[in-house]
Amino acid sequence: MLRLETLVDKVAAYHPAADRALIEKAFAFSERAHAGQRRRSGEPYFVHPLSVASIIADLRLDVASICAGLLHDCVEDTAATVEELQAEFSPEVAFLVDGVTKLGKIAWHTREERQAENFRKMLLAMARDIRVILVKLADRLDNMRTLGHMPPEKQERIARETMDIYAPLAHRLGIMWVKCELEDLAFRYLFPAEFEALRAQVDQTEEERLRRTLEVEALVAQELAAGGVVCRVKGRAKHLWSIHQKMKRTGRELSQIQDAVGFRVITGSVGECYQALGIAHSRWTPVPGRFKDYLALPKANLYQSLHTTLVGPGAERMELQIRTEEMHRVAEEGIAAHWKYKEGRPGGPGREGPGGDAQTFAWLRQLMEWQQDLQDPAEFIQSVKIDLFADEVYVFTPKGDVKALPKGSCPIDFAYAVHTKVGDHCSGARVNGAIVPLRYRLRNGDMLEIITSPNRRPNKDWIKFVATSRAKTKIRHLLREEQREKAKTLGRELLDRELRRWRTSLPKSEKDGTIERAITAFKLNSIEDLIALIGYGKLVAAQVAQAIVPDERREGGPIEPSPDAETPIKGLVKKAPRRGAPSGITVAGETDVLVRFAKCCTPLPGDSIVGFITRGRGVTVHTRECEDSLDLEPERRVDVEWDGQSKAPRPVALKVVCADKPGLLAHISQSFTDAGVNISQANCRATDDNRAENTFHFQVQDLEQLKGVMRALLRISGVQSVDRVVLGTVVPGT
Ligand code: MN
Repeated sequence: MLRLETLVDKVAAYHPAADRALIEKAFAFSERAHAGQRRRSGEPYFVHPLSVASIIADLRLDVASICAGLLHDCVEDTAATVEELQAEFSPEVAFLVDGVTKLGKIAWHTREERQAENFRKMLLAMARDIRVILVKLADRLDNMRTLGHMPPEKQERIARETMDIYAPLAHRLGIMWVKCELEDLAFRYLFPAEFEALRAQVDQTEEERLRRTLEVEALVAQELAAGGVVCRVKGRAKHLWSIHQKMKRTGRELSQIQDAVGFRVITGSVGECYQALGIAHSRWTPVPGRFKDYLALPKANLYQSLHTTLVGPGAERMELQIRTEEMHRVAEEGIAAHWKYKEGRPGGPGREGPGGDAQTFAWLRQLMEWQQDLQDPAEFIQSVKIDLFADEVYVFTPKGDVKALPKGSCPIDFAYAVHTKVGDHCSGARVNGAIVPLRYRLRNGDMLEIITSPNRRPNKDWIKFVATSRAKTKIRHLLREEQREKAKTLGRELLDRELRRWRTSLPKSEKDGTIERAITAFKLNSIEDLIALIGYGKLVAAQVAQAIVPDERREGGPIEPSPDAETPIKGLVKKAPRRGAPSGITVAGETDVLVRFAKCCTPLPGDSIVGFITRGRGVTVHTRECEDSLDLEPERRVDVEWDGQSKAPRPVALKVVCADKPGLLAHISQSFTDAGVNISQANCRATDDNRAENTFHFQVQDLEQLKGVMRALLRISGVQSVDRVVLGTVVPGT
């Protein structure tokens, strides 16, 4: 067990004026209070608070923090009270212990209403005194170091919480060594197999890596010295979790990760940092895009350094971090490096001092200001959590579980994070009880409830506003499946219809196996593929039918003409497009599908459109606003787009209302001619109120050309309105 003197000496080494007597008193108090208690390992319980105090000394905190570390479990686990600590030690020590005790009671996976409150408590404690968080981090670090004695399910829960909450917190506070150690410890319990494998691999190559590291250290120091910069160069192996993350991210093996060792160049001044950078860049080739100047623009956690990656000796990549001695201390210790001792008193948060604390603690001060301004816990949590975890949003499920999503996520991302089925049937969302649009951007602390409906399916537009790749992949997959299903329904109908003309049917040819002939003839793998291709319009049903129907049966000829020769059914344009002629439309991403334009709304290239699979006649295209299309069965709906290639003229009609005066009509028809448009039909009639209503039918190539004609007409003096006509209905706002 650690001895009292060892701890006291450790503190005195960085803080000579430290109150030794107070540390000794806390030591004795805690040892007495925990007497008889044992840890799971069988050791006396007091070993734990003592280790925590030692970690706090590693963080170089003040005497009150050391005492709080020694006493941190007294209120929770022994008969001691906060009042007692206040009387025995100081209100400061009692406050810290109380804060740590309260933080310890936060369960991160509790019911919803307590979640926001819990986080608020933690941050309030933090904003009032950062030392509470630092003592808590030390406590967690020791618990993680001794986690092996816990039962497996507890190990996993604690490791998960460490990875999710405490490691990011240490990172945010800039205490890198604590962050790295917490991550590696959590890694070990969360993914034991991967951890052990990687550790074994790293151990095996350690000697070689060490040799290389020393070589590079010496070489860099020598080159920089030759250029006039005296500095220390120190190589440090990346921690296992970050190597693991990098291997996963890049799909590379350990041996291929060349920058598994990063090199720190510690110089005497800011000027020398830039000088060292210049020398390094002229001596070795820098890797483009890897230079970062955190010296001019420090990170939020006060980190400062110049980062660059070079092609070093042996063509291996070499990552350099160049900084001053003081910056190095901040990089390693983060916020703890700013703990200043003035006449034996720590410059705590909020205290102005000559050491530049005002700037150092700007972030903390801001937290405190928020705390005063915001009475609403939800509002508080939003503003503060954003600062803590800048790239992620943390939202709660109705059960109070926390889900981390990338910034910019929407309820659909959340739905897919919960379960694929929830995403696939997501029809709406409530945030903090209120209905929000599906494209709502999630905010920290939102409590989210997804409304599902069994008939709801993902919409193509969702892909445009979801942020997670998981949601994107799932939506794309489902849409593809759906389109294929629709194509298959259509394909079955088309083929069955063709086959019936030859006195057979699709079910019959499937039963007697004659359909296999078509599969062979078109070199396909399955009936499914054959039918889908007919549905997509890539195969012509009539040709497929001919391949299926035996020659002898074909001799008698079909019992009815091909449907393509039929009079078109109501609602479709008169002339079916010639086979092979490009329609200018892609259906579900497929081109050359049999497409017809609905007569009711006569879509033009540029119009927003939808397609409907008709019974046996390909796909009909309507404008999105078309009322007739709204009456059609939604399950026949299919995504269609203008492919932007074809410029085949399309029929359209305009209604022009103008004053009934001589010569105006000539003007109007002239402007059609000027636009290169031929009127195919015109209806003009005078109204009672001395106006004239004219309807012109003509052909245009796209919406742009139509708009040009409309603008030209509106410029004619006497023309009062120009509107697009859809089967007698006027479409406003075109
Ligand atoms: Mn503890």
